[in-house]
Amino acid sequence: MDYLRIAGLSKTFGRTTVLDQIDCTIAEGELVTLLGPSGCGKSTLLRCIAGLTAPDRGSISVAGVDITGMAPQQRGIGMVFQSYALFPNLNVRDNIAFGLSMQRLPATEIARRVADIVALVELQGHETKLVHQLSGGQRQRVALARALVVRPRILLLDEPLSALDARIRKHLQQQIRRIQQQLKLTTVFVTHDQEEAMILSDRIVVMEGGRIVQQGSAEAIYTRPASAFVAGFMGSFN
Ligand code: ADP
Ligand code: MG
Repeated sequence: MDYLRIAGLSKTFGRTTVLDQIDCTIAEGELVTLLGPSGCGKSTLLRCIAGLTAPDRGSISVAGVDITGMAPQQRGIGMVFQSYALFPNLNVRDNIAFGLSMQRLPATEIARRVADIVALVELQGHETKLVHQLSGGQRQRVALARALVVRPRILLLDEPLSALDARIRKHLQQQIRRIQQQLKLTTVFVTHDQEEAMILSDRIVVMEGGRIVQQGSAEAIYTRPASAFVAGFMGSFN
């Protein structure tokens, strides 16, 4: 069952075609990795899905409903960026609760939801710390918690681990996978790191120059790359 459906999506900045007729579907509860080199259009595609960038052509639908022109906050989509977009003057708990501030929920419900999410991302004991007192990995877990606390229908992760060192990155890859499976959350994970894509995904979508050049399981893409570009990028024939 297709849950997120992207059809004929195109975007041009000036004279550069950044997205060129993107067609892609993602099933409910699936984690798909968008993999490709820097500048191939991954972030632009995520921003179109989130409603932060308007495509020139094409459509995006969720559960059969066209959301192409819908305001970002009405899409039910959570997003985490590479650099932590956290509020430095708020503590962990308030950074996470900020996601709920638009919804008129009773204080007890907010507290309960935040506590549940803090436990899910394993940040217990850090609730009253300020952002500068946290490690990079902890900051990204706060950003993840803030995206999750509103119970999004879809989670978009834009290179959330790229700034972290290898050991922390491995740990967070496992955490993201556990949480995603536990919540059965439809997720698009962007990375330029083929190893990360191989570890994390149900399915990989490879992009090059604004186009999707191959989609499939990690194993299929690695063993049967569709082009010399994919083979080189995946390190298939060493
Ligand atoms: P990726 O995330 O794969 O690195 P991006 O989607 O960020 O790629 O960018 C793809 C291309 O679009 C790049 O050439 C980038 O310079 C260009 N681009 C992205 N956003 C804008 C913008 N707002 N204005 C002009 N060019 C942009
Ligand atoms: Mg990017």
